[in-house]
Order: sequence, then structure tokens, then C-alpha cells
Amino acid sequence: MASQTISTAQDAGWIWDICLPTRRGVGYVYSSRHSSEEDARATLRRYIGPQHELEARKIPIRSGHRRTFWKNNCIAVGLAGGFLEPLESSAIVLVELSAKLIAEQMPANREVMDIVARRFNEVTLYRWGRIIDFLKLHYVLTQRTDTAFWRDNVDPATVPDRLNELLKLWKYHPPWFFDEFDRLEEVFPAASYQYVLYGMGFQSEVPPEATADTELLASRLREENERQTLELRSRLPTNRELLNKIHEYGLQPV
Ligand SMILES: Cc1cc2nc3c(=O)[nH]c(=O)nc-3n(C[C@H](O)[C@H](O)[C@H](O)COP(=O)(O)OP(=O)(O)OC[C@H]3O[C@@H](n4cnc5c(N)ncnc54)[C@H](O)[C@@H]3O)c2cc1C
Repeated sequence: MASQTISTAQDAGWIWDICLPTRRGVGYVYSSRHSSEEDARATLRRYIGPQHELEARKIPIRSGHRRTFWKNNCIAVGLAGGFLEPLESSAIVLVELSAKLIAEQMPANREVMDIVARRFNEVTLYRWGRIIDFLKLHYVLTQRTDTAFWRDNVDPATVPDRLNELLKLWKYHPPWFFDEFDRLEEVFPAASYQYVLYGMGFQSEVPPEATADTELLASRLREENERQTLELRSRLPTNRELLNKIHEYGLQPV
């Protein structure tokens, strides 16, 4: 039983495959500009395999977000504020962060409400922007040129300016805190960018003077990491064993 969501790139999007104790949740997020509904259904059927006779439900996505989330005494949270696509599971964390902000900053009176609203709008807009950057990162690093969907996705005109600048900087150093990931509750910190960037084979040039020492240190860290991974794997339960335990006894304090 896979312990992670398996996302597989397709001709016009990607398929998610989430393993649950008694079934799998599978869906195809596709661009309707690049695939007909019929082709998308056929792709999904192929992925699932002919042995399962399943009908897919269609969920149309109107991608985008508001510019103003708090206006007078109304605040748009969750789907009321926007939706992009489910690749990075960022919607619920935004709901939580917004709820926290509202609870902690609830205006004491009408006089300060506009100040709180302006600050809420500013930080929420910032967060949506960062989610767009991070989503786009997955697409823009693709090596695929076989379909129009993937070719269109690397078109520089579709890459946000901030991400474009960061990608230029990251040729010379890995994503780090100074790359403006400086908010207290950043949805995707520098480490998240590192996972996607280097997972997709991106190369950052190491400065020549650092090479020998850095390589030695890096190989030691890699070895140590592998050793620890093997050790932990031999002691940890499988995903199904863990889920069965949680089902039976609830989540135990660590
Ligand atoms: C395929 C898919 C996968 C996703 N995966 C993830 C994920 O892994 N992680 C993540 O964070 N987010 C994910 N999301 C996004 C996330 O599910 C939504 O952003 C989130 O559920 C939105 O919450 P909400 O309360 O704003 O809206 P909803 O959950 O849609 O709640 C709105 C509620 O209002 C009710 N309602 C509507 N109209 C009325 C009315 N007139 N009167 C009374 N009630 C009404 C509806 O029935 C519904 O219960 C995914 C979304 C999709 C489509």
C-alpha cells in the first residue's frame, strides 16, 4: 500500500492515485484546451486498467483567485476565495491560515477593521502568488516536448516574473531563506523548492573554490542519510500496519 500520492504525468495533465485502506482514489486533472473530455476519460480508463468497470465523475475547475478577499464585513475563505488545481494540496492549509488570521486579528472595532482587512488581503494575495509559483515550478522544469500541453507549459510568457527570476538565481545557488521565503508562515519554504527542483534534475552550479570540500561533505552526508534510512526502515511498520493500528487505537502521542 503506497504511503504517498502517486502523481503521473499524462498528455494533457496528470493523474493522482491515492491509496486508502479499502480502495484507491484516482483522478485525471487535464487541460480542456489540450484534451477532449472523451480522450481524458479514455486516458483515465487506460490508467485504471480494463479489469475495472468504473465511471468517472467530472469536476470542472474554474482556475483562479480573487484580488480582494476581505471587503467590508465579508471574507472569502476556501473555494469562495479561489481554486487553482490539486497538485500540491494547498487549499486546506490556506483555509487554516486564513481562519487563524481572522481569529487572531479580529478587529476590535470598526475603526481598525479596514487596517486589518488591508493586511489580510495583502498576505492572502501573497500566499496565492506563492502557490502559483510553486505549482508552475513542476511544469516549467519538464523535459517533455511530445504534446502541446507540455510544450505550452514551458512558454516563458506563462512563467510568473518572480519564479523566472528565482530560476535564474538558482542556477548559481540552491533555494534558500534569502530568496524572500521570509514570511512567518510561508506555505512553501525554500526546502519545498529544493525537493521539486532537484527531483526534476535541475542543476545548480557549485562555485569552483567550494568543490572539493563540499563534495566530500556532501558524500559523507549522503552516506549517513542512507544509513539512517535503512535503519529506520528496518524498525518502522509498513503503511498498512500503521493505518490499522491508528484505526484500532487512535493516534498515539509520540
Ligand atoms: C479533485 C480535488 C482534489 C483536492 N485535493 C486537495 C488536497 O489534497 N488538499 C487540499 O488541501 N485541498 C484539496 N482540494 C481542494 C479542497 O477540497 C477545497 O479547496 C476545499 O474543500 C474547499 O473548502 P470549502 O469549505 O471552501 O468548500 P467546500 O468543501 O466545497 O464546502 C462548501 C459547502 O457548502 C455547501 N453549499 C453550497 N451551496 C450551498 C447553499 N446554497 N446552501 C447551503 N450549503 C451550500 C456545499 O454542499 C459544501 O458542503 C481538492 C479539490 C479537488 C476538486
